Amino acid sequence: GAMRHLPYFCRGEVVKGFGRGSKELGIPTANFSEQVVESFPSDIPTGIYYGWACVGNGDVHKMVLSIGWNPFYKNIKKSVETHIIHTFKEDFYGEILSIVITGYIRPEKNFDSLDALISAIQEDIEEAKRQLDLPEHLKLKEDNFFHLPEGKIVNNR
Ligand code: ADP
Ligand code: MG
Repeated sequence: GAMRHLPYFCRGEVVKGFGRGSKELGIPTANFSEQVVESFPSDIPTGIYYGWACVGNGDVHKMVLSIGWNPFYKNIKKSVETHIIHTFKEDFYGEILSIVITGYIRPEKNFDSLDALISAIQEDIEEAKRQLDLPEHLKLKEDNFFHLPEGKIVNNR
């Protein structure tokens, strides 16, 4: 399952996604490049995860993350997208995003309507917020990983 890969540390550049309109739904997702996605363990389950994220050398925030099948590549490659639970003043394409994935919420699902999708994501966000306040997850917010020199790309460790 997902748990044996966690916690998972990852750092990489934020690239343009495939414009599924996440931002219009109020839940922008910062996409990692194909190269970073390829560095993930190939057997990590698709689905919704949570953890901590930091842009450049900014503050560390709660996040929810989806590991899914990438429609751009006819669903043969994965995509990894992070929604940071924080309001940013500006977009941060091209910046280095550092994340640690600490927990798993649920597998990928198809939804009957946009409303159903949005409420599921809202529930995922609430679940992530609650879980991340627990000591075992909270401790990773302070991990040295977030204080390593910017630009150093480290996948897992
Ligand atoms: P794309 O298809 O290019 O990924 P999105 O609609 O998913 O477009 O928006 C993602 C972009 O929004 C990110 O790359 C980032 O620059 C910006 N952004 C602003 N706020 C956030 C946030 N809280 N979490 C993630 N990305 C954010
Ligand atoms: Mg996106």
